[in-house]
Amino acid sequence: MVKILNYIDGRLVPPASGNYLDNIEPATGEVYSHIPDSDSQDVELAVQAAQKAAPGWAGQSIETRSELLLKLADLIDNHLEELAKAESVDNGKPISLARTVDIPRASANFRFYAKAIINQSTKAHISEDKGINYTVSEPLGIAGCISPWNLPLYLFTWKIAPALASGNAVVAKPSEVTPMTAFLLSKLCMEAGFPAGVLNIVHGLGPNVGEAIVAHPAIPAISFTGGTATGKKIAGIAAPMFKKLSLELGGKNPNIIFEDCDFENALATTLRSSFANQGQICLCGSRIYVQQPIYAKFLEAFVAKVKAMHVGDPLDENTKTGAVVSEQHQEKILHYISLAQLEGGKVLTGGHALNPQGRCKNGYFVAPTIITNLNENCRTNQEEIFGPVVTVQPFNTEEEVIALANSTPYGLSATVWTQHLQRAHRVAGALKAGIVWVNCWLVRDLRTPFGGMKQSGIGREGGEEALRFFTEEKNVCIKL
Ligand code: NAD
Repeated sequence: MVKILNYIDGRLVPPASGNYLDNIEPATGEVYSHIPDSDSQDVELAVQAAQKAAPGWAGQSIETRSELLLKLADLIDNHLEELAKAESVDNGKPISLARTVDIPRASANFRFYAKAIINQSTKAHISEDKGINYTVSEPLGIAGCISPWNLPLYLFTWKIAPALASGNAVVAKPSEVTPMTAFLLSKLCMEAGFPAGVLNIVHGLGPNVGEAIVAHPAIPAISFTGGTATGKKIAGIAAPMFKKLSLELGGKNPNIIFEDCDFENALATTLRSSFANQGQICLCGSRIYVQQPIYAKFLEAFVAKVKAMHVGDPLDENTKTGAVVSEQHQEKILHYISLAQLEGGKVLTGGHALNPQGRCKNGYFVAPTIITNLNENCRTNQEEIFGPVVTVQPFNTEEEVIALANSTPYGLSATVWTQHLQRAHRVAGALKAGIVWVNCWLVRDLRTPFGGMKQSGIGREGGEEALRFFTEEKNVCIKL
């Protein structure tokens, strides 16, 4: 059985405690590897290695850093099949999704920031006859990066790539629920020839490893993606230490379908935006609002399509819907479905656990679920479920649906379906969400700032925003 190791100071090492946790394959419910149960001792070793490496890494030419990141991106591409399989086993997601979305995006993240640093420019401001100000960016030293389980390598690299590109050493922690691809990445870093200590990966539990990273005084910036409750805890520790913080948190995203939409496109994409990765993408729409004249038609067609969805072994090439990530998460989703029914919700399809036969008979699966008959204030419509569960509700007017859409504490993303140009602009402008997709979903341009409003987070990742986050700007003023 594979024993995952920490990656500290350029070497793969066991945890200081010598303790390991079970890593369970969600599709089978079986332990398939062991993961270091690290603690603050391992974080301390990682920080020491990063401190040693940081000045040398910051002092490398931009070209050298860029070439190394490009080499890592190429290695990820060369190991696509191995990584996709590892991610599918670790997470329960269909292997086809890991192969076409998650892993290609991980190499794209490194490639994007490798190129971005080459094209960066500095600003200068000339104060007429008084002086010339120019602005220089300096790396912060060490960056702390903490990521979740839903898009394991995709989100892990989305943080690490800009942190490394801008000249920082990194101490990173992937989710303990899906550690395998980060472990494989550490091997690829060694193969690429990364200098020791530039990237350090410490595996283990959030309260033991994550908190030690957040609280470490030598780490001045924390980039975190995960749940809102965890983000709150992290902010509580980091804010009084005046650390830079980027928090990408939960969502409860509305999907608004107007009567003048391209019906077939809206229907097909809503199926994806609701149930891709078993609804475990922070950007999945979980509240679907359909304008009254097409409500019945949409609901009938949507239920028929969801009933026809095949849930199966994530390693099967034909599977489009796999397992949810863990037994604990399956229980949480089923609990919310029961709660929805107590709140008066009507389950139109799904609403239960599933057990595909054969290899997956003991795995953690949930049937794609549609619930109607709930109002916007109930917990089902206010709290993040993060599974294959959506509610569908009718609406009449634009004003009404904007109020419904904005009624939760979250503000991560939203989707709007309409052929009416002015309405698209009007509604997009009124929605409190960090990203609004009109007539599409999950179309991403890595140059755009990404992040949530309200309790979906603070800070923006992506493009230049991320490079700015991982650096400190300094102005130099020369008297004329
Ligand atoms: P989580 O908050 O439980 O864990 C995220 C990471 O934080 C893990 O690595 C975990 O070990 C670590 N952690 C846990 N407790 C910690 C602590 N006290 N201190 C420091 N680190 C700690 O989230 P999760 O269940 O892994 O992921 C699902 C959540 O992530 C959902 O809420 C989802 O919406 C959110 N998410 C948000 C985005 C976004 O871009 N906004 C993207 C993906 C996922």
